[in-house]
Amino acid sequence: MAKTSAPRSASGARARARPAAAPRGARRRAELTVERLARVYPAACELDHRNPFELTIATILSAQTTDRSVNQVTPELFARYPTAADLAVADPAEVERIIRPTGFYRAKARTIIAVAGALVERFGGEVPPRMDDLLTLPGVGRKTANVILGVGFDVPGFAVDTHVIRLSNRLGLVATTDPEEIEAQVTRMVPAREWTGLSLRLILHGRRICVARRPRCEECVLNDFCPSSSVRPAPARS
Ligand code: SF4
Repeated sequence: MAKTSAPRSASGARARARPAAAPRGARRRAELTVERLARVYPAACELDHRNPFELTIATILSAQTTDRSVNQVTPELFARYPTAADLAVADPAEVERIIRPTGFYRAKARTIIAVAGALVERFGGEVPPRMDDLLTLPGVGRKTANVILGVGFDVPGFAVDTHVIRLSNRLGLVATTDPEEIEAQVTRMVPAREWTGLSLRLILHGRRICVARRPRCEECVLNDFCPSSSVRPAPARS
């Protein structure tokens, strides 16, 4: 649920009285990041899903665990409860049993049953394709809502997870760890049509190359302009 009623920008992010300034050259680095990552990665979400309902539930289950562990439980979950109406009246103990491998299974079971109930009660059993509506659902914050919008509805959404926070700082796109501020700044630097793809590709790059402990800068397609790179290409000859 939204925490304040502060006005929102065009990207949907809350307006701040004093937004932190983006680092010098951030816009150009953002453009290069969009361009280079698009050559390497698809704009793909690694959570298996067939519709916005499944994506919503899978995204909630993905908190504090890997997409792989979510993908292991969702086939049984969605076979048993294919719609919001089915999940809304599910036996919590049965849901807990199915989703247990994803961790925090009691809280997650409560949340996904509550989300299903809210979808049935207020949205005709369908996931709404609007940020403001999504933020009224239990357990749905801006990160989850942006994934649902971008991946489920093809509505531009820049989801900021732990990988996006880390990479956007290492790349000098932002100098803040506040997810809403990162969303607001990055979405001002790149066109809306790139928001979803950039977020998904930063997540893939963060999982595969720019990992938290020891980034593999020597293999990174961004290493010639990344301010945090541990390798430098040979200077161009005159
Ligand atoms: S050069 Fe290194 S720090 Fe910069 S994005 Fe690539 S892997 Fe991360």
